[in-house]
Amino acid sequence: MGVAQSVSEGYMEPAPPGGNISVTSQHRDIMTLKIHDTLAREKRDFVPADPTRVTMYVCGPTVYNHAHIGNFRPVVVFDVLYRVLRHLYGEDAVVYARNVTDVDDKINKKAADEGVPISVITERYLAAYHQDADALGALRPNLEPKATEHIGAILEMIGQLVENGSAYAAEGHVLFDTQSFADYGQLSGRPLDEMIAGARVEVAPYKRHPADFVLWKPSKENEPEWESPWGAGRPGWHIECSAMIDKALGKTIDIHAGGIDLTFPHHENEVAQSRCAHKTSVLANYWMHNGFLDMGGEKMSKSLGNVIIPHELLKTVPGEVIRWALLSAHYRQPLDWTPELLEQSKKSLDRLYGALRRAKDVAPDQAMEAPAEVMAALMDDLNTPLATSAFFEVSSLIEKAVTAGDTVAIAANKARLLEAGALLGFLQADPDSWFEGDASDELKAQVEALLAQRVAARAAKDWPAADAIRAQLDALGVVVMDGPSGATWRMKD
Ligand SMILES: [Zn+2]
Repeated sequence: MGVAQSVSEGYMEPAPPGGNISVTSQHRDIMTLKIHDTLAREKRDFVPADPTRVTMYVCGPTVYNHAHIGNFRPVVVFDVLYRVLRHLYGEDAVVYARNVTDVDDKINKKAADEGVPISVITERYLAAYHQDADALGALRPNLEPKATEHIGAILEMIGQLVENGSAYAAEGHVLFDTQSFADYGQLSGRPLDEMIAGARVEVAPYKRHPADFVLWKPSKENEPEWESPWGAGRPGWHIECSAMIDKALGKTIDIHAGGIDLTFPHHENEVAQSRCAHKTSVLANYWMHNGFLDMGGEKMSKSLGNVIIPHELLKTVPGEVIRWALLSAHYRQPLDWTPELLEQSKKSLDRLYGALRRAKDVAPDQAMEAPAEVMAALMDDLNTPLATSAFFEVSSLIEKAVTAGDTVAIAANKARLLEAGALLGFLQADPDSWFEGDASDELKAQVEALLAQRVAARAAKDWPAADAIRAQLDALGVVVMDGPSGATWRMKD
């Protein structure tokens, strides 16, 4: 069978461990990653231009406030993409860049309100963003270019566009001339002649066409500004990404991703800028967009008061639970965010960590791979709900093996579950600490001391004392579970 040849050259199928997995041939068949490409409007086999340097770019945050849960959906979804690509091509073969927009009207307003330089605002919220993304189990990108550190590259690109006749200066602004680019509207499926003035495009007297967009604009008084051949000012949002993609990754990249709301105008404009500046036919070989996140069927909005901020939510809910919830729907589908979804996610992880805890005395078998079903689901356009559903089959096998005392099966299935977890960014915590949750060290010590006293009371057959200790533990919010290898505990929900 020549199936393995459809896999990129950089990927070598590892030998099956001990021949004890019967799905090896199936495993090979599924090893071509298929991703839905927004531009092609269909799933395509993923073939990187250079398998030793796979490039992906995701539009990052504008750092003026804490990001909301909808902002973190692409962070987590494309973290799974990053993990899968690293698995396929090697950890050092994938370059992931996610930009930081650190000059913007909202940042300027916040800085003015607080009477501080914009860097105070942007550094504060970038640090919080990192903290939250880390808590959600998202690996840091390899590169995080900042707009303010790329003003030179941005001006250079604007200069090329003006020179090529793709942009024009007017009243201190530089605008992209959308009518100069025949493919404008191709990505979002909005041909220029169908675009109506006023519908998501800003009308201004100095524009030649309502869809023309700003590359450079004058700053208002007391706002940050940089010198330019077209007057002092600052860059528009779209040009930042085009310039930073070029500097960080190159003129044509493998994958460009982001939320579906960015398809138009942001990504459409990125394509126009990059292709016209570099005179290339392609900016990204694959475009990926994640669906919207709704709040119980409603749009999330400040006016409805239903905005969920992970920075706050993380104070009471483990990041892994939020991650599970974010990956519970296929990334292209809308995700309905409800309290029940979080509860269900917590229960799912409790079940999986419960199996791992029962298996904690047996070391995982180092030779095992993630189950073929999990890989197959991920290779089919990152089908995370299907991938995680396979986790439960493996955890049932662990439970069965523990009951049967079959240490070989425990070691094998525990390893498979941990490998599957690593691919999706789950189950890497110590199972005991998972259940102990946010119990303080002081409380943990108190619980351990009480459990030791209880063991002594039971050994002495002092049942009233043992019961009294159990009641004390209950009062502390602790649930005790007796098992074959002693008692374990968890915090009540
Ligand atoms: Zn962008």
